[in-house]
Amino acid sequence: MPRRTDRRKKSKQWARRHLNDHYVKQAGQSGYRARSVFKLEEIDQRYHLIKPGASIVDLGAAPGSWSQYVIKKTGDKGRVIAVDLLPVRAIENVIVIQGDFCDANIQQEILGILNGEPADLVISDMAPDLTGISITDQANMENLLMNVINSLENILKPGADLLIKVFEGRMLVDVRKPLNLLFKKVISIKPGASRKHSKEFYLLAVGYQQK
Ligand code: SAM
Repeated sequence: MPRRTDRRKKSKQWARRHLNDHYVKQAGQSGYRARSVFKLEEIDQRYHLIKPGASIVDLGAAPGSWSQYVIKKTGDKGRVIAVDLLPVRAIENVIVIQGDFCDANIQQEILGILNGEPADLVISDMAPDLTGISITDQANMENLLMNVINSLENILKPGADLLIKVFEGRMLVDVRKPLNLLFKKVISIKPGASRKHSKEFYLLAVGYQQK
């Protein structure tokens, strides 16, 4: 179990690194709410995920930088639904749902908004609160990811794509297995804006084929 003084020291080091971070400064200057936007931008520039007029569900959206980027790219005709446990300050033309994505009522709310027209893309930057205990963090992340994968039917249209944050580790095998069955291709991506020491990376699953 990490000691309190270790945690305090680590959090101070994180704050110092964060303030000096080039992406944090760039996000502030361009009006984005978080540096995470540059991970999505880099992936989008490479794989052309976000198209004008698209319908997109953004999971783990707070504070909102991915939704800010997405609505700029989809334009007025796009439909963007942002979901988070935390409040997301209003973003023009983005529909915000506050709640736990794993809750069946929240998934019903998303389906209600989609109104029988599934999305072109689901993006998930969701991550559980980290405890620092690797086995627990892996299990919580796996639970979250399996929830997303099991809810895709009706949310995602056939041929659509999924971009999802994952952590390196043993759970990856369990997560990749269903994705390989449900999608034509699964690509691993570590964007330049993702901190080098972080275990996070992204899986882009292309071409949803319903069960
Ligand atoms: N992509 C966001 C942005 O660019 O502003 C940053 C997302 S942040 C790294 C991860 C978010 O996932 C947190 O705001 C957290 O509240 C959310 N989250 C974690 N578990 C969740 C769950 N079960 N349902 C909804 N949101 C969740």
